[in-house]
Amino acid sequence: MKLYNIKENDEQVSFGQAVRQGLGRNQGLFFPSELPCFDDIDGLLAEDFTSRSAKILSALIGDELSPEAVKALVENAFQFPAPIQKVKDQVYALELFHGPTLAFKDFGGRFMAQSLAAVSDGGKITILTATSGDTGAAVAHAFYGMENIQVVILYPKGKISPLQEKLFCTLGKNIHTVAINSDFDACQALVKKAFDDQALRAEVGLNSANSINISRLMAQICYYFEAAAQMSKAERENLVVSVPSGNFGNLTAGMLAKALGLPIKRFIAATNVNDTVPRYLETGKWEPKATIATTSNAMDVSQPNNWPRIEELCRIQGWGLETLGKGAVTDEESAASVRELYDLGYLCEPHGAIAYRTLGQQLQPGETGLFLCTAHPAKFKEVVDEILETDIPLPGPLAKHSQMALLSEVLDDDFEALKAILRRVQ
Ligand SMILES: *Cc1c(COP(=O)(O)O)cnc(C)c1O
Repeated sequence: MKLYNIKENDEQVSFGQAVRQGLGRNQGLFFPSELPCFDDIDGLLAEDFTSRSAKILSALIGDELSPEAVKALVENAFQFPAPIQKVKDQVYALELFHGPTLAFKDFGGRFMAQSLAAVSDGGKITILTATSGDTGAAVAHAFYGMENIQVVILYPKGKISPLQEKLFCTLGKNIHTVAINSDFDACQALVKKAFDDQALRAEVGLNSANSINISRLMAQICYYFEAAAQMSKAERENLVVSVPSGNFGNLTAGMLAKALGLPIKRFIAATNVNDTVPRYLETGKWEPKATIATTSNAMDVSQPNNWPRIEELCRIQGWGLETLGKGAVTDEESAASVRELYDLGYLCEPHGAIAYRTLGQQLQPGETGLFLCTAHPAKFKEVVDEILETDIPLPGPLAKHSQMALLSEVLDDDFEALKAILRRVQ
C-alpha cells in the first residue's frame, strides 16, 4: 500500500510507515495512492464479518502483510459484532458500541494497536493522542499492557462525561492520562505541536492514535459493509447513511467504503451546533468558531481534522461536495429525538439521535436509511437518564471502572509541561 501526504504530495510512505508515523510533514494527512475496487459486492457481502473484513483490508494493504497476517489482525481486533436494528419502516440503526469501551472507536483503536505491533521495527513507541471522550478509552484499552508502548492521552478537563473519564483514566501501567485546563481543540493543537517538534518526535518515538492514523479509518470501512450485508438486496439498493460527526473520521471511512464499491446512494454529515462543516457546505467558507460544549460531547469539534481527506476523496472520485447531505442539531432537538426513539422502543444516546434526526429530515420515499449509533446509551447515562427520566443500568465494563480511582494528572495548556511528561514516562 502506498500513501501520499495530502499537503506535500512528494512525501510517499508505505502502510507500515503511515501507521508508525501517523501524520506526514507539515501536519499533512496520508491518503492512499490507489484504492482497490470490488466488482462482486454481493459475493463479498455474503461472507462473514471477519473473512470479509480481512479481504477488504488485505486488498488495501497489499503485499506488505500476507492475507493470513491481516486475517489474524482482524480476528484479534474485531471480537464483537456490529448489528443493525430496525427502528421503524425504512430506518435502521447500526450499533457500533458492542466493543470493550462501548463506542465505535474500539474498531479503529484495536485494529491500529494490532497493526502497529505487526509493523513495528522494535523501536520505542509513545502514543500521544487527544480525546473528546471515546478515543481515549478505546486507545487505552487497545494498547493496555502492550510491551514497549507508552500511551499518553490528553482530554479537556471537565468536558467529558465522568463515566467516560473513569473508563480510561483508571488503568495505570503504560496508560498515562492528562486532563488539560482547556477544550478539545486545545488538546488537539498540543498533539500537533508535539508532532511538529522533530527532535521530540524522534526521541520518544511519537505516534498518534487519533483518527489521523489511517489504520483506524481502514478498520471503520469494514462495518459499513457489515451493515449492508445485513439488509436485503432491495433495501441496500437505495441506501442513505447518516453519520454523527466530530472529527469526520467515521464519515471518511464510509465514503472510502463507497469508493471501494459499496453502493451507498448518499451520506449525511450530521453534527451538533459545532457546525463548521454544515456551514462550509452551505456557504463555501471554512469558518471555525470557538467550540461549544454540548450533550454530544464526542462531537464538540470545530476544526475537524479529517475533513481534508473527504475533500481529497471527492476530488479523486469526481463527487461534488453538494451531494453530501448535512444537518446541525441543537441539544434540545437531539433530546427530542432521544425521546422519539424511546417511544419507538429504541434506547439511544444523543450522538446517535443526532444522526437519526438529520436522516429523518432528508430521507426520501423508496430509500432505506441507516444512522450510526456510535456509543452505548449507558456511556452517556447522565444525559440519557435526564432526558428520559430513567435509570439505565451500567453494562459490565462501565460498572467495574466507575468504582476505580482516577489516576489522571492535571495540566495547563502548556507545551513545555507536556514535553516533560512525554520524557518522564519513558
Ligand atoms: C468520536 C465520536 C463521534 C465522532 O466521530 P468522528 O469520526 O470524529 O467524526 C461521534 N460519536 C461518538 C460517540 C464518538 O465517540
